[in-house]
Amino acid sequence: MLSGCSGVGKDTVVKEIVRIAPEFVISVSATTRKIRSNEKNGIDYHFLSAQDFDSAVSSNKFLEYASYCGNRYGTLKNEVEKYTKKGRNVILVIEVQGGKKVKKSRPDSVSVFILPPSLHELENRLRSRGLDDEESIIRRLKRAEFEIEESKNYDLRIINKNYAICAQDILEFIREIAP
Ligand code: 5GP
Repeated sequence: MLSGCSGVGKDTVVKEIVRIAPEFVISVSATTRKIRSNEKNGIDYHFLSAQDFDSAVSSNKFLEYASYCGNRYGTLKNEVEKYTKKGRNVILVIEVQGGKKVKKSRPDSVSVFILPPSLHELENRLRSRGLDDEESIIRRLKRAEFEIEESKNYDLRIINKNYAICAQDILEFIREIAP
């Protein structure tokens, strides 16, 4: 399971991990967040209405779910099971509340938190990627401070200075503690 502040470059790092280690696969989460122009439904997320998300919660379809900056996000049980059945290692890219729930239910899971070089650098990255409006950027930066505090409970905390090196280091760590 992998977490990190919004804008820290998690997605690039995770894509690099599955590129160099094909035994890993990324779980596609469900969210009520609006789809961004660079995203595809079913690939980046399963984009659900609030009503459909509620109904998935009632039907016990989530392994975990949480609210984050005004939207909801959740890991679908069937997304994970379809890969674990085939013996593949699933990477959940989730925020810290979900991370806590997963660690509690699966203490054998490996938790990794990706840190920005600094909060100032994180703000620069969030602004330069141009995906969020000003209100969302401010919310995400505030949230980052809480997440960095929570990250002290993770098995590995790593600074993303270079995505390829970061991916390699994470992989080495996982292989060492969960061979
Ligand atoms: P974004 O809106 O930037 O795509 O994601 C916002 C946050 O939600 C990120 O920290 C991301 O890792 C987290 N997230 C994505 N999917 C899930 C999920 O299934 N469960 C939880 N708890 N968080 C998620």
